[in-house]
Amino acid sequence: MKRTSAAASSTLTMPLVCLTRVRKSFPLPDGAPLVAVNDVSLAIAAGTAIALTGPSGSGKSTLLHLIGAIEQSDSGTIDVDGQEVTGLSGRALAAYRRRVGFVFQRFHLLPTLTALDNVMAPLIPFRTDFDKVARARELLAMVGLADRAAALPSRLSGGQQQRVAIARALISQPALLLADEPTGNLDSQNGTAIVDLLLRLRDEQGTTLIMATHDTGIAARCDRAVQMRDGCLTSLDR
Ligand code: ADP
Ligand code: MG
Repeated sequence: MKRTSAAASSTLTMPLVCLTRVRKSFPLPDGAPLVAVNDVSLAIAAGTAIALTGPSGSGKSTLLHLIGAIEQSDSGTIDVDGQEVTGLSGRALAAYRRRVGFVFQRFHLLPTLTALDNVMAPLIPFRTDFDKVARARELLAMVGLADRAAALPSRLSGGQQQRVAIARALISQPALLLADEPTGNLDSQNGTAIVDLLLRLRDEQGTTLIMATHDTGIAARCDRAVQMRDGCLTSLDR
């Protein structure tokens, strides 16, 4: 295990995420459903970084979407920090989504908002119990962009945009961060810096990280790597 902080190690023994026989299929035009995630069971310890590897189309994104409640599974259970995710709706669903950070391959920043406003975008507008601007500035500083708070995404490099996206994912202080090929649109130098940043969150804040990646070098830097193929987990750990 590659960790240094007491904060991370104190939570190590408990699984934060527990998937049991999770299944998700999509209807195809010809009628036969495509099984994107097939009977996946997996427990992920709190404070660890796990890489989800496997070829394109193997179900990595779908699995992340199910854990993040962006999509609903057909069957099985998804327990995150003691809460069953499948079937959440309304306020409970919105509250859950705020507790989980999501980082995408294509950054998905809002093009008309500054870096600072993008970071604050997930917050409930009327929430006044903390200083949002101060927190957003703190996060931009943490990702090395203190001086770019007023910049629009179009004025930022890909690596900088992904840093803003990571700051945005952290605004609600999530215990779980889901990252879907976060370095897929970056050159290797910027990609390495993004992975450094994500692993620093694990070390310093005990954030649990689930990261889909094609990159074996990145997978090797995580605590665990599991592989998917045709919707199934084909190997539990390297
Ligand atoms: P990966 O992220 O590993 O590339 P995905 O989870 O994106 O894999 O896709 C797994 C399979 O599910 C693929 O065959 C893909 O075409 C299919 N799929 C994913 N999302 C949808 C969708 N919304 N509708 C139909 N098929 C989908
Ligand atoms: Mg994908």
